[in-house]
Amino acid sequence: MNKNLKKIIPYPVARPVKNIWLGIRGLYYIGNNYECPVCGHHFRKMLPGGFDLPVIKEKQIIGGGYRENDICPYCKSTDRDRFVFLYLKYESNFFRNNLLVLHVAPEPSLYRFFKKMKNLQYYPVTKYQEGFYYDKSVRKADLLDLNFEEGTFDWVLCNHVLEHIPEDAKAMSEIFRVLKPGGHAILQVPVSLKLKTTYEDFSITDPAEREKHFGQFDHVRIYGSDYPNRLEQAGFYVKIINQENDLMHVPPPLTKYALNSKEKLFLCTKPNSINSSL
Ligand SMILES: [Zn+2]
Repeated sequence: MNKNLKKIIPYPVARPVKNIWLGIRGLYYIGNNYECPVCGHHFRKMLPGGFDLPVIKEKQIIGGGYRENDICPYCKSTDRDRFVFLYLKYESNFFRNNLLVLHVAPEPSLYRFFKKMKNLQYYPVTKYQEGFYYDKSVRKADLLDLNFEEGTFDWVLCNHVLEHIPEDAKAMSEIFRVLKPGGHAILQVPVSLKLKTTYEDFSITDPAEREKHFGQFDHVRIYGSDYPNRLEQAGFYVKIINQENDLMHVPPPLTKYALNSKEKLFLCTKPNSINSSL
């Protein structure tokens, strides 16, 4: 939806209107070139998503910017939702075992799917910040002070959240704390292919300046290639999942899922013991 239109129409009104519009527009997209693994529907092409800003292009930020084939016309999954879904379904225990799952700021398409899965005890939570809307069953929680016992969860999903939080190290430590030993987290963030070191400047608080510097009005940093090191500082063992090598059980070809081929998945594991390197 047009950015200016978003400002004029209140979001609770704009959201259903947008969904109806996307549904009608979806008819135009009927075809067989692409398959959404979340809803199982096929399309000639996906809907475009995101928008470009100079900083997103200049810093080559993966996980931001305009994408031609981004949003599923039916379930509204994005390219990055589909990557997470494919990994969890075909390469992990997520669909097989009985698991406790914490999903922070849940992506709507994944939330709708996961909450129906019988093998999951599913805890969707969010901070309910202004500008973001969630289903009523999503509980309120603060990522800097999670109201769960240490070692509660088998999985934590927390995607595109850490770049909003000045104290990201504290948030990572909280996720680490509530995971069971041997438990996993997927912690996706926008990452620059250009920056070796994460760029952050907390003196920049004006939304327009943040958009200019970080690529979104409410981001406080751009992560660089040191992002896995920051996760390791919290205690995680980090495995970087590549689409070509690490989606071996996903029915080919990968191109039909309309993923962003440059995106990598950050799979974070809490070691079984302090001395365990897995
Ligand atoms: Zn879909």
